[in-house]
Amino acid sequence: MFDVHIVGGGLAGSEAAWQLAEAGYRVRLSEMRGGGDTTAAHETDRLAEMVCSNSFRSDDAEHNAVGLLHQEMRALGSLIMRAADQSRVPAGSALAVDREGFAAEVTRAIERHPDVSVVRERIDALPDHPTIIATGPLTGSNLADAIAAETGEGALAFFDAIAPIVHRDSIDMDVAWMAARWEKGGKDYINCPLDKEQYEAFVQALRDGDKTEFKDWEKDTPYFEGCMPIEVMAERGVETLRYGPMKGVGLDNPRTGRWPYAVVQLRQDNALGTLWNMVGFQTKLKHGEQVRIFRTIPGLENAEFARLGGIHRNSFINSPRLLDRQLRLKSKPNIRFAGQITGCEGYLESASIGLIAARFAAAELSGIDLPSPPPETALGALLGHITGGADAETFQPMNVNFGLMPPIAGRSKRADRKKAYTDRAREALARWLERVPARELA
Ligand SMILES: Cc1cc2nc3c(=O)[nH]c(=O)nc-3n(C[C@H](O)[C@H](O)[C@H](O)COP(=O)(O)OP(=O)(O)OC[C@H]3O[C@@H](n4cnc5c(N)ncnc54)[C@H](O)[C@@H]3O)c2cc1C
Repeated sequence: MFDVHIVGGGLAGSEAAWQLAEAGYRVRLSEMRGGGDTTAAHETDRLAEMVCSNSFRSDDAEHNAVGLLHQEMRALGSLIMRAADQSRVPAGSALAVDREGFAAEVTRAIERHPDVSVVRERIDALPDHPTIIATGPLTGSNLADAIAAETGEGALAFFDAIAPIVHRDSIDMDVAWMAARWEKGGKDYINCPLDKEQYEAFVQALRDGDKTEFKDWEKDTPYFEGCMPIEVMAERGVETLRYGPMKGVGLDNPRTGRWPYAVVQLRQDNALGTLWNMVGFQTKLKHGEQVRIFRTIPGLENAEFARLGGIHRNSFINSPRLLDRQLRLKSKPNIRFAGQITGCEGYLESASIGLIAARFAAAELSGIDLPSPPPETALGALLGHITGGADAETFQPMNVNFGLMPPIAGRSKRADRKKAYTDRAREALARWLERVPARELA
């Protein structure tokens, strides 16, 4: 017998199981590894295996949104953070871990918990009982088919195609301007103009830039049909981009009265208007190369990137459209989603969405209305983004960052502004914790 069924014993599912069990609920945790199945990236049968890097990124809770999320999760009794702190290895201000020790500790804690039964089985359909689906970027294909059948065409993606996202306040609006092509609709795009020389140098830089290779199991991807990486377009011919995402036609530059030779357009990415994505700029350039090359674009010389581009095999649903604010599937509310399949990105973000999904599930079982964590907190900002703040039309996976939080008014030095965000977040979390029912904090 169990109260909640969790499918997937990765970063999110393990955290969710722990949170529910600690709140006094019985959990069945179904993990297909160890039961005859595996994924293309996992190498062990341990719960919460880190498939690539051994880092949970910055642990600086004063000036970094990731570090802030660490702090919030510790305050919420996170097993993933406890195990990470116990397995820590030297990595400057980052929280890096001995991956084997980390996964062994999570596995031990979950398997020993009297209220969790870990079952090594693959789940192929959406259950009818209270369930949290946390099957991650490499969700088993039968279950993926069942999710696609429930959510409708195009609502479950199998690859991401991420274009870089820029903080609005780092764009030089003395160079860029707002307009829509042919002045159709509102002035909805930020336009960065390039002259011929700048454009040709940019195309050459894309061709020469260092790229990330696809893994063997990613090579046969269908992504080329819809969203070709910009560097692939650049390879096809010097004019290809100018007839594609960089075309300047229909865009009068108010400073010259003419159309630019080429243009980079940015479109608003979140309801707050703090984040703007570079339209059509999905790329497999290495992250350092993206920063170097994209900062040669006029208007983006000082761009701060909330997220850099990438293309990976990644199963994720269109959460802003499909889920309610408590991560329930609107069409089948006994099902919650958690982890990377919701369209958050990264070990830590996935675990945090596992944590809050479990808190919501526990509150529902207790007949309590748990308020969402405030948008000023890292957890609340990430949750708010994936469950509604993001634009459903262009939804792509997202890391936690300050751009997801309501902006702080006024101008101040960058370091001071970051500190102001984290100070405000700590106060907001403390106020929220006072409203969280005692049982949820067990
Ligand atoms: C190749 C690769 C490299 C990555 N590198 C990084 C990195 O360096 N840093 C970073 O922060 N993030 C990285 N990520 C993303 C990272 O994997 C996720 O952020 C994180 O693991 C997501 O946690 P999760 O719990 O949502 O999914 P996972 O940790 O993947 O857990 C999902 C679990 O569900 C199980 N499962 C799947 N389908 C079923 C089913 N039908 N029935 C039962 N069980 C099932 C899987 O076996 C798995 O254990 C990488 C992802 C990939 C694919």
